[in-house]
Amino acid sequence: VKGTAVERFVADVLLAMSSERIVPIHRGAVDVEDGKVVWSGPLEEATSHSGAVIEIRGILMPGFVDTHCHTPMVLLRGAGEGLLVNQWLKEVMWPREARLEPDDVALAMKLGGSELLRGGITTSVEMYFHGQAVAEAADEIGLRCVVTPPVIEDAQLSSFGTPVDQIQEMVALSERWRGSDLVEVGVGPHATYSVSDEVLRTMSAVASEQGMLIHIHVAEQEWEDGAVRERTGMSAPAYLESIGMFENRVLAAHSVWMDDEDVDIFARNGVAVAHCPCSNMKHASGIARVEDLLGAGIRVGLGTDGPASHHRLDFFEEMRTAMRVARIRTRDAQQLPPNQVLWMATAGAADAIGRPDLGRLAPGSKADMIAIDTGGTLFHPVIRSEDDPVSRLVFQGSPTDVTDVWVSGRKVVENRAVTTFDVESAIEELDARAEGLLS
Ligand SMILES: [Zn+2]
Repeated sequence: VKGTAVERFVADVLLAMSSERIVPIHRGAVDVEDGKVVWSGPLEEATSHSGAVIEIRGILMPGFVDTHCHTPMVLLRGAGEGLLVNQWLKEVMWPREARLEPDDVALAMKLGGSELLRGGITTSVEMYFHGQAVAEAADEIGLRCVVTPPVIEDAQLSSFGTPVDQIQEMVALSERWRGSDLVEVGVGPHATYSVSDEVLRTMSAVASEQGMLIHIHVAEQEWEDGAVRERTGMSAPAYLESIGMFENRVLAAHSVWMDDEDVDIFARNGVAVAHCPCSNMKHASGIARVEDLLGAGIRVGLGTDGPASHHRLDFFEEMRTAMRVARIRTRDAQQLPPNQVLWMATAGAADAIGRPDLGRLAPGSKADMIAIDTGGTLFHPVIRSEDDPVSRLVFQGSPTDVTDVWVSGRKVVENRAVTTFDVESAIEELDARAEGLLS
């Protein structure tokens, strides 16, 4: 007999993310075959089923899609506290990162990636050095990953080779992982201020030839906006548009310092944004105009940014921070309602990276799913006539409520523990390797 049997997941509440309104389905079912969803909907409408049935007591929903992360920076978590991004990078991050070996990145990606899975993040868009180590580690622990190795032109980081070498390695990496279920490779020009005009144009051309996602920091800091204007006479969005970069699939991280013209440039070019409010607030970078971006029809996904900027890689905290900052910026308590922010954490984020097969549980989607225990007191009271499970999840949930996680139908977290990597055994080595980066 060819193929595998269909598994049926039945949950008290199913959030299938079939529309932006997010209509919860009570007693919902998801049928999974060969790592993909073949059907989802109310159990009473399901076909008869003789295979395995997995009962979820609580919420079943797609895993979170983290649109901007540098997970191996768990090695630098806590370092350089209290600094603006530019000083933090140049004085604290880059000197240590210059000493990174592939083994450091591999261990950190497995440990940090386990934190992502454990907290319900099943896909991460990663920008980090030693892309092959990132990809192998993600693949090993069962985390879906868009790997976009960075190019940064700074003398401190010359140990990673010339930009030409790094771009060639990116293309080789992309070819090596073509056809992989879990790993997609894109290109990561770090930012307009840290990469030259020539290299930005080359990376843009390579992305276009290979059909790769471009993942770049844009307009993160006030300082950067001034520096780019001085160098190019334009804002970063206007400049990147002028060199043709936006003819590609582009994901712009942060996008804080955006005027009306910049918002229009993103909208007319279909540039997507990774919104990282926790990082933007920690580094005092600024407050992104997320309501204006959404209003202009721009695809926006949430991103944690790296663990040296976010510390906890907690998507529930990210959702709540996004809501709170949007409301205080506009003095409007209707801004970013729970369904909209949950959309930005799942299906909206998947759309932002051009992956409609992720972030939702619809026929043809990858079976990337998380189960959430809503039995704790924090999820109560439940008043049936006015209950909104999405609001309860967004306002009251936390990574510790995620009990089980599947990626492509493979169980990677069971009873709140990662099954694919021995996290405890790696902690001591992580400490030693983190200390080793100091000198
Ligand atoms: Zn970043």
